[in-house]
Amino acid sequence: MGKRRPRLKPTLWDGVLAACVGLLACAILFNARVGGAAEYVTAVVYADGVEIDRARIDTPAERTYAANGCTLHARFCPDGVPGARVVSADCPTQDCVHTGTVTHSGEAIVCLPARIVIRLEGGAVPDDAPDAVIG
Ligand SMILES: [Zn+2]
Repeated sequence: MGKRRPRLKPTLWDGVLAACVGLLACAILFNARVGGAAEYVTAVVYADGVEIDRARIDTPAERTYAANGCTLHARFCPDGVPGARVVSADCPTQDCVHTGTVTHSGEAIVCLPARIVIRLEGGAVPDDAPDAVIG
């Protein structure tokens, strides 16, 4: 009955566990600070005026959008820079490709032949803007 087991190793595991919990807490805190508090610009993609997709511009991603016989290859956060651009398209005008990278809220890439618009929205609404004085 009641065999005593010397528990010496748990100290190591306690340390590891504590480290893990600490890291996790830091990660959650960091995420909350970066993702929660900051306003992020979102790329909203419209085809024929209908929203078909949205993506954060600070997260590297590649998407393909097709509409009206044209196919656009869009890249978000190109070269690690928050923004959106159309890297290639088979539309006749290529205006969307020539637009390059848009980085600011309100900017948009428009492909008329495909009737696709990639517009950056949000992020421009500072909650604590002291400059916004009426008058
Ligand atoms: Zn185009």
